[in-house]
Amino acid sequence: MPNPLYDRMFAPLATREDALLILRDGTRVSGQAFLATAARTAHALTAAGLKPGDRLAVQVEKSPEALALYAACVAAGVVFLPLNTAYTASELEYFITDSAAGAVVCGTGAEATVKGIASVPVLTLDADGTGSLTEAAAGQPDRFDPVDREAEDLAALLYTSGTTGRSKGAMLSQTNLLSNAEALVDLWRFTADDVLLHVLPIFHTHGLFVASHVVLAAGGSMVFLPKFDAAEALDWLPRVTTMMGVPTFYTRLLAEPGFGRETCANMRLFTSGSAPLLAETHREFEARTGHRILERYGMTETNMNTSNPYDGERRAGTVGFPLPGVELKITDPETGETLDDGASGMIEVRGPNVFQGYWQMPEKTAAELREDGFFITGDIGMIDPDGYVHIVGRAKDLIISGGYNIYPKEIELILDEQPGVLESAVIGVPHPDFGEGVVAVLVAAPGQTIDCDAVRAAAGERLAKFKQPKALEVVEELPRNTMGKVQKNLLRDQFAGAFTG
Ligand code: ATP
Ligand code: MG
Repeated sequence: MPNPLYDRMFAPLATREDALLILRDGTRVSGQAFLATAARTAHALTAAGLKPGDRLAVQVEKSPEALALYAACVAAGVVFLPLNTAYTASELEYFITDSAAGAVVCGTGAEATVKGIASVPVLTLDADGTGSLTEAAAGQPDRFDPVDREAEDLAALLYTSGTTGRSKGAMLSQTNLLSNAEALVDLWRFTADDVLLHVLPIFHTHGLFVASHVVLAAGGSMVFLPKFDAAEALDWLPRVTTMMGVPTFYTRLLAEPGFGRETCANMRLFTSGSAPLLAETHREFEARTGHRILERYGMTETNMNTSNPYDGERRAGTVGFPLPGVELKITDPETGETLDDGASGMIEVRGPNVFQGYWQMPEKTAAELREDGFFITGDIGMIDPDGYVHIVGRAKDLIISGGYNIYPKEIELILDEQPGVLESAVIGVPHPDFGEGVVAVLVAAPGQTIDCDAVRAAAGERLAKFKQPKALEVVEELPRNTMGKVQKNLLRDQFAGAFTG
């Protein structure tokens, strides 16, 4: 019986005696062994009463068993709903209730809390692969006949990172995920010989879908580490061929004195996404290793939208071109009219990767997913004359001061170049005269201090008066979520009284 996602990603593992996963201690998990774990787990899920279409909320540490749990869900037609391990009890309650999850898998430590939240079956799975789920799976058969699924059936309900507000559940079909994986194998030239350094979390689109699916689809292997640790990555890099990361991984690698050409001699590809890669990181990485990081752009609702080219120029400060089969246009955020290349506006995308809508949010879905299939991403971008897409910022971070629209990134790029400045975040907060006033939050480079007068003078020279920061704040570091995204909402709260307080 057909189950397109299972058939493409997992069924081929049945004949793979070689390692799909290589673990921290060197243990190799063959494709066959992984598939057997997934099969036993699928039986255990079915025994727990889960039926095709039910949601399984999963908040567990990254482990081979956790990835096998995803495979088990695909096999059993259960909608996989992974949750950030950092979420607190009240956040968990929201996700479990909002999704009307049919069961929950969590760490043993969270079991009592989850039982207090929902009266659904609760199974446990700990970082070492033990727990009541593993016990329930132990006696089950090693084979599971995947249930029949249509290409448009939901495979996952993935909540957005909550960077701009409350997380929304994005409904992703089998086709949404498959189309992206196929495109990426081609675009990034993945083969069975590839070994990916898998250091991303698997509760997020980047690590769960982009990274894992590409390797599965190409028949490659992955060094499957619980999290990113620069020293550990340094140790593994000579033995892998590819790495996918978020920008902070790369800045942390660059902070390792032993990191350089030799470490990367076996590497053929480094990719970065989820947050903007600083031009500085780009340059330094190339100078140190000879490799140009390939930057890409994706989101929970669409998996991946664009990628810099494998061959050809990987242009710093851009996210490259739309993936094959994906259309991207820039529109006027007010009128929805398509803008010419070179103009900044709303990024809209259409293609087989675009999700089915927000879970239980018909109005929001109707407002953001147009009838003609274009999804209004909420990101502001621009297409340059060569077709490269630039991300200018998020529509929600747009500052309106004295009636003028200000995109923070334009200001941040100038501030980041100033002596002593490591990075910056520009926000708008209430201002009695202008509606919003521009606040620049700065972080000093290690061992350096920031001369705020000099920064003010430089901004004065290069920016129109209405864009110049009216207040400069120096902080130790910018607040970031687990994917390395700067949480501007927290900064806006922190500096809300800059002009009124
Ligand atoms: P929420 O939608 O709940 O506010 P979120 O948008 O951060 O959270 P994700 O879906 O995890 O949730 O993140 C997608 C967003 O990350 C994109 O819309 C974009 O703003 C940003 N992003 C991803 N890749 C890049 C990149 N290479 N450069 C700049 N921004 C990126
Ligand atoms: Mg978003």
